[in-house]
Amino acid sequence: MRIARYTTGDDPTYGLVDGAGEKIAQISGDPLYTKIELTGETTTVDEVRLLAPVIPRSKIIGIGKNYAAHAAEMGGEAPAEPLMFLIPNTAVVGPGDPVVMPPQSERISFEGELAVIIGSVCKDISPEEARKVVLGYTCANDVTARDLQKSDGQWARAKGFDTFCPLGPWIETEVDLDRAVVKTTLDGEVKQDGTTADMIHDVWSLISYASHAFTLLPGDVILTGTPEGVGLVDPGQRVTIEIDQIGSLSNPFVRHSA
Ligand code: MG
Repeated sequence: MRIARYTTGDDPTYGLVDGAGEKIAQISGDPLYTKIELTGETTTVDEVRLLAPVIPRSKIIGIGKNYAAHAAEMGGEAPAEPLMFLIPNTAVVGPGDPVVMPPQSERISFEGELAVIIGSVCKDISPEEARKVVLGYTCANDVTARDLQKSDGQWARAKGFDTFCPLGPWIETEVDLDRAVVKTTLDGEVKQDGTTADMIHDVWSLISYASHAFTLLPGDVILTGTPEGVGLVDPGQRVTIEIDQIGSLSNPFVRHSA
């Protein structure tokens, strides 16, 4: 099942997208908190503006260096335990929204990632129990100001600027995590072509690990790390993250205007 959040000019609403990614059947309420019921209204993806499928109420948890080849390209080894950081929900934008490149950075990079959306409250759960708390998955771009990541030490600013966390195009509830392909293109040129099979810590371990630090709430998002091939973006370029079983998320990058 694919759950989209979208607008036709009025308040955001939710709908179920068909397998072809073309038609939308509207549902009533927010699927995170209410049972899914169709309203009978239908539209098409072309006729609406897709929004970020979820705006986290409490947090986005990022995981650093969860693919060995990416850890190596960053000049180190992957940490033994998942490396967590937090991104503010004000960084979230949706499909097609511009990523605004702040004047404080000269080196802004894309990171294509699988994002996990938590569906129910949990704390101190095991990897086995983690399977029951997931609502679904979407594509994410963990945009990073590489120079500030290095100079700050902390990653809050480098990964937390407004617009630095594009999510979309919708939440797919069923993904085969043993073989999902995460592909990133920069102006159409393939830069990352990885598979979730290469994660060091799998999705269930990451949820369990995070839950031993934080209470996870419905709508919380976990970014599961990026495969190798990250690179810098110039203003005017477009980055597309595609996960074969989900869909694609494409965003233009623009220079901040004072
Ligand atoms: Mg990342």
